[in-house]
Amino acid sequence: MSYTSVTGFPRIGKLRELKFATESFFKNEITESDLLNTAHELKEGSWKKQSAEGIDFIPSNDFSFYDNVLDTAVLFNVIPSRYRNLPVSELQRYFAMARGYQKDGLDVHALPMKKWFNTNYHYIVPEFEDGTSISLAGNKPVEEYLEAKKLGLQTKPMIIGPFTFLSLLKFTGNSTKESIASDLTAEYVKLIKCLSDNGAEWIQFDEPSLVKDLDDADISLFEKIYQSILENKSGCKVLLNTYFGDTRDIYSKLITMDFDGLGLDLIEGRDSLELIKKNGFSNNALLFAGVVNGKNIWRNDYAKTLDILAQIKAAGVSQERIVISTSCSLLHVPYTLDNETKLEDGIKKHFVFAYEKLGELRELAYIADHTDERAKEILNQNADILTADRNATDPEVQKKLAAITEADFVRLPAFAEREKIQKEKFGLPAIPTTTIGSFPQTKEIKKERSLYTKGQITKDEYETFIKERIREVIRLQEEIGLDVLVHGEFERNDMVEYFGEHLNGYLFTEKAWVQSYGTRCVKPPIIWGDVSRKEAITVKWSKYAAEQTDKPVKGMLTGPVTILNWSFPREDISRKESVYQIALAIRDEVLDLEANGIRIIQIDEAALREKLPLRRSDWYSEYLDWAIPTFRLVSGKVKADTQIHTHMCYSEFTDIIPAIDDMDADVITFEASRSDLQILDSLKENNFKTEVGPGVYDIHSPRVPSVEEIESALKKMLEKIDASKLWANPDCGLKTRGNEETIPSLKNLVAAAKRVRDSL
Ligand code: GLN
Ligand code: ZN
Repeated sequence: MSYTSVTGFPRIGKLRELKFATESFFKNEITESDLLNTAHELKEGSWKKQSAEGIDFIPSNDFSFYDNVLDTAVLFNVIPSRYRNLPVSELQRYFAMARGYQKDGLDVHALPMKKWFNTNYHYIVPEFEDGTSISLAGNKPVEEYLEAKKLGLQTKPMIIGPFTFLSLLKFTGNSTKESIASDLTAEYVKLIKCLSDNGAEWIQFDEPSLVKDLDDADISLFEKIYQSILENKSGCKVLLNTYFGDTRDIYSKLITMDFDGLGLDLIEGRDSLELIKKNGFSNNALLFAGVVNGKNIWRNDYAKTLDILAQIKAAGVSQERIVISTSCSLLHVPYTLDNETKLEDGIKKHFVFAYEKLGELRELAYIADHTDERAKEILNQNADILTADRNATDPEVQKKLAAITEADFVRLPAFAEREKIQKEKFGLPAIPTTTIGSFPQTKEIKKERSLYTKGQITKDEYETFIKERIREVIRLQEEIGLDVLVHGEFERNDMVEYFGEHLNGYLFTEKAWVQSYGTRCVKPPIIWGDVSRKEAITVKWSKYAAEQTDKPVKGMLTGPVTILNWSFPREDISRKESVYQIALAIRDEVLDLEANGIRIIQIDEAALREKLPLRRSDWYSEYLDWAIPTFRLVSGKVKADTQIHTHMCYSEFTDIIPAIDDMDADVITFEASRSDLQILDSLKENNFKTEVGPGVYDIHSPRVPSVEEIESALKKMLEKIDASKLWANPDCGLKTRGNEETIPSLKNLVAAAKRVRDSL
């Protein structure tokens, strides 16, 4: 019987139990041991479920209280001294690194966060100070292994591998990857020994960095690390696991090394299969074939998967050596369809979430081994579902797509002229202040929305409530003294889901949460068919907000690339075709806002950077060549004196600055506060034309920045950015924050901008 394996399992809980427990812990409502209990129950539940589904390689140490990369840093004692010195428990120190610490006169920033490869999951960027003594200080992988063992379950502990861990580290001093590699490797070796002594048979090293472009130095670093690991396996079997792409730069090396298992992504790894066919495979290792998609939720095409497996066999890997596996951790998909009560069965049958994917692994293993009646039945059932009609095509949408011409992508007049016109029209002060759109979504607001969705209050009552909040937030912004106001986005549950609800072709789930960072989860909608706008989406709210004030109110839309990237995409048409459909729908909304007097419109492309291909050679051909024109398609038809803003989370676009400028927005705001300000140098070098608002404080942390701190951030920015192009704003939307910290923070922001403005 073919083996089955899971790379990693979601951990936030089917009903987000971990989120709620952790947040209660942050508020001191429950104790540390309560939190540990919840964690144990969740782990136990996931292990038992996988075991019941007959999974052979069940992961452990895939659990995390916040993030696996942070876990790895703490495990090896890579803890900057500012956290080391805090007078708190281990777990609290861990959370301080993730969230910052502000208490009893102590004030420590959180470590920065970044997107995990090409996903919407964020990891904590570990920081390495010179003089840090790397040592196996923690015990989490062993504890979790034993926790499962006590339940009678043998697991394969998974851990971020040393090569990837090194590549994610930020070095603040003179140390380098190369200079600490052997110390770090020695500690990984100790970990293997420790796990092995406790009974672990396998250990899984996750090395997604291997799917990026690798140069000779990378390859020799990798070899050095793993030669030493493989010489010191302590009787444990080592699975080298890769995902999110193929390993074309190092594959031929990998298959000559003494790994016991090699995990390859056959879904996103465009060349994985070709690599096997061309180079063969190791003589002894098991091939963990990632054929069940860990990122999307469409049912696996069994016939296609069997064909892939057949090709692998034909390349010389015998049946017994193939382990049917997930393409990456199931962290990126929701828990289970069982919680979905509103989707029709005819629709639901097309989807598989984490629990259901376990069933796919089991069935695939069965049909890979058997040709009996049951195998035929499984195959037939699968084929029936896949060929069932989805009614996906809308002729109206097809007609509009066909009518797009080059002119739709060009905004006139050109930027320089528009900038002049807009300065005159809006008459904003130098370094105008604004926010990114959302204001705190208080308990009260969430409660009201839930009453409304449950039908316990009427639409009228709900809308009256939202309008009151809008009035309040407009007053508040006027009091604070912001220059460009927003309506606060109180009507939105989520920036993508809300838009999806107003688009044809979209489907929604009730409980299909996916962890985004820490305790934050998102519920990505599903693109089911051709997309078009059902009705005006935001016009009513923006218009209402604008009527409450004389100051300009910025309309707030989610951009098509972000809507696509944060949805579960279709697999039957290309992303480009899908995104152009969404762009046409959002363009209708842009023009509607403009016609209703909203003359500053922000089109958020929070997730544009996130799906940039991991290999540079694919950046344009596979992505930017359609993602950037998409933005121009949405905004190209507005008047010269309508100002188009965009917002991107994170500033990791140093390498693609010309492409970002090419979006041809008038203003772009982005995160710059958690990462260093090197982006500013690049803006300058590239003669960036678009006006910019690099976030001056970090909204992902509850700490309140002082006026001086913001002032000094702005002054630093002015060294690189012309005052006529600089805006002052927080680094992202405020919806996840409370008013307690938001109001003082914004007041400090306005005060700082004034000081800087006066000094010009
Ligand atoms: N306008 C959105 C907000 O403020 C942007 C959020 C985001 O970038 N993630 O919430
Ligand atoms: Zn953002």
